[in-house]
Formats: sequence, C-alpha cells, structure tokens
Amino acid sequence: MKTIQAYRYALDLTPAQDRDVYAHVGAARVAHNWALAQVKAVMDQRAAERSYGVADELLTPSLSWSLAGLRKAWNAAKPEVAPWWAEVSKEAFNTGLDALARGLKNWADSRSGKRSGRPVGFPRFKSRRRATPSVRFTTGAIRVEPDRKHVVLPRLGRLKLHESARKLARRLDDGVARILSATVRRDGGRWYVAFTVEIERTERAPARPKSVLGVDVGIKHLAVLSTGELVANPRHLAGAQQRMRTLGRSLSRKAGPDRRTGQRASKRWERAAARLGRVHVRVANLRRDGLHKLTTRLAATYGTVVVEDLNVTGMLANRKLARHIADAGFAEIRRQLAYKTGWNGGRLLVADRWYPSSKTCSGCGAVRTKLALSEREYQCEACGLIMDRDRNASLNLAALAAELNTAGSGPVAARGADRKTRVRGRVALKREPGTASAGQTGTVPPQGGTADHVLTQAH
Ligand SMILES: [Zn+2]
Repeated sequence: MKTIQAYRYALDLTPAQDRDVYAHVGAARVAHNWALAQVKAVMDQRAAERSYGVADELLTPSLSWSLAGLRKAWNAAKPEVAPWWAEVSKEAFNTGLDALARGLKNWADSRSGKRSGRPVGFPRFKSRRRATPSVRFTTGAIRVEPDRKHVVLPRLGRLKLHESARKLARRLDDGVARILSATVRRDGGRWYVAFTVEIERTERAPARPKSVLGVDVGIKHLAVLSTGELVANPRHLAGAQQRMRTLGRSLSRKAGPDRRTGQRASKRWERAAARLGRVHVRVANLRRDGLHKLTTRLAATYGTVVVEDLNVTGMLANRKLARHIADAGFAEIRRQLAYKTGWNGGRLLVADRWYPSSKTCSGCGAVRTKLALSEREYQCEACGLIMDRDRNASLNLAALAAELNTAGSGPVAARGADRKTRVRGRVALKREPGTASAGQTGTVPPQGGTADHVLTQAH
C-alpha cells in the first residue's frame, strides 16, 4: 500500500543558518507579492480598457495564473526586482509563486462554483508580521545524513535536528520510502522541517478484526472507550493548561496592539505573547502525542472503530477553554483514526451529528430529551441505569456499529423487543473524500436530519 506521509522534526539552527532560512522565507514572500501585484495590475488594466469599450482581442493580454506562467514572468523580471536572486535557492521563489498560483486557482474555482465550501477570498499580500514563515524544497539535494541527526537541504546545507530521524532514515535505507519534498516552517517560535514522503507500507490486519469499539472524546479524560477503559490525559497536560491560563491573564493586562488607533504593542506585551505562544505549542504537542499513542493502539487492535461526527455539545455556546480543547482533540482523534485504521486494515465509522449518543441509554435504548452538559452521570428514567456520561456514549457508538454489521445481511437486529430500534431503514456508507480507500462498499447519500442515523465510512 502506497501512502504519503509526513515526518516533522524540530531544527536546532545556528544564528547564521537562522539568517539563511529567513532570507529564503523572505525571498518566497517577495516573489509572491511581486507576482500578485502583477496579476492585480493586469486585471485592473483590462477592467479599465473594457470600460472604455476596447474589444476583447485588443485588451492587454492577461497573465497566466499557472505556476509555470508565473515562474516564467518572475524569471524575466527577477534581475530587476530582486538583483540578489542568486543568493537564495530558486525553490524559495517557487514556494511563493506556488502559493499564489494555488490561491488564485482556489479563488477562481470558488467563484465559478467548481469548489465547494466557504467562499475563498482573493489572495492577499503576505506581510512579514502576519504570514507563517515557510519555504519548500522539491528538488536538489534533500537527504537525511547517516548519523540521523542532520539533514541536508539545497543551499541551506547541513542542518542539525533536535531529535533523531531514525524512523524515517530506516525506511529510506530499506528502500521503502522516497522523499518528495521538504518544508522548513516556523511554528511557535521554532523552526521545523517536514518531509513529505511516499512510503510503501506492508499490509496489516488488526489484532481483533471482528471487534467493535466506540470512542468518546472527553474533557477530564483524553477518551472514554466502550470497553470501559478511561484513557487518561497525558502527564503534565493539566500543569501546562494552568500555565496557559495564568499567562493569558498576564497578557491581557499589558498594552497590546490596536488596529483602530494604530497603537503598536508594547515590548512587555510581545514578550508575554511569545511566552503564551510557547505554552500553547506545548499543550498542543502533549495532547497530540497522547492522541497518537491512543489511536495507534486502537487501530492496531480493533477491526471497527466508531466515533461521533461532530461534538454537538461543543456547538452550544460554550466558551470554556477545556471544552474548546476537547473539540480540537476530537477533530484530531478522528483524523488520526481515519488514516491509521486504513493502514491497519480496519475501518472507522462516523456516527452522524444527529445521533444522540449522549442522550441515549446504552442499557434500554430510551432517549432522553435533555441532558445538561453539567450532568456527568447518565441516569436513565426508563430502566434506572446510572453510568458515566462518556462511557454511556461510547457504548452507544459501539452498538450502532454492531447494528450496521448485521444490517447488511438481514433486518436490523433489535436488541430487545420492548424498545425503539435506533437504526431504522437503511444504513448508509459514505467514503470520506481525501482519505485513502480500503476497498469498501458503495455510497448512499445521507438522508439529512431525519431519525435515520447514518454511519459514515471514514476511509
Ligand atoms: Zn435505560
């Protein structure tokens, strides 16, 4: 199975290398902004000419918006626009032009209706302050050094990694991996290099292919499994979150920037913001690490994993930090499970957002009309069941998948005659776009917000 995977490592750069990387990032921005200005100028010129009644064939020729077209225009202009162009890798300019070409295409597709989703705005000029500094290398010498602690990138040369790249190096040595590109990016006050790698993965099967597991992402715990297991939050997470709150308060007491008055941020504000940014990164890293360990284990063990589509409770106006973090973790756990179950020969099912996993009793199937977020215990008025709220939800998700399994071969198996059957009619499977396929069944579009709860195949 061929997959595209990313390997990301923190870099330890010397001051000279730091300047070098910034020069490349700046070059990407210069090329991007120059090309954007050209595109805008030609568009304005043509609009003006049209308003004078100039015939279409006599208009100023429009600029090609493709990467090749932009590159050609840039190469013709660069001796004048950037006489220093030879000092940086041509990949730097390519980074900026590629970003612009994609931005223009997305905007055009969005306007013509070819691209769904939120409308995409016209590309904007990149500013040194706002844009995330990054530069991407696709050609030239890109490799991991034999010591596995250094990488070599075009022009930038040999860069020290903060951690060992042994996992990637092993795959490269075995000839099952091929580096497609390397991106150097600044994130939370640090430089990282991310390799995009094509990997030939061996086919695997989960340890228990017939088993079904429901997963509910919690606040107090990282996740609650339908097996009853509570997966604890990573160590030090609570401490980092506490520090995040403290620093957030400290930041709010300092003089920040103000767009309306043009007030620049104070030095103290900038330092406090940088401190807070670093803690944010640490919290995100701790959580991501915990989620990776969890999802790897689940995908290796269970044949079917079921999660909820969207955290409905999170959509209620709730500005609590903890809730916010749980939501972020929720999206991440789902993303990781989607590709990891694919790698392991399992499958991920997503219960649609209307499925009341929290409000349904896992014992008798009765559905409560209301369940306050503060109620951490589920209490069933019909059968008297009392259970941890998240555990109850995870059991419902697992049961939903079990019903799906039987739905293909015959009538939906009702677990007892005296209660409502929760999966009515057909159960639809839909393949999530953009994820690797594992050879699954056909597609039936979801029915919308009806009582039929739809399970979506996430890969
Ligand atoms: Zn009940």
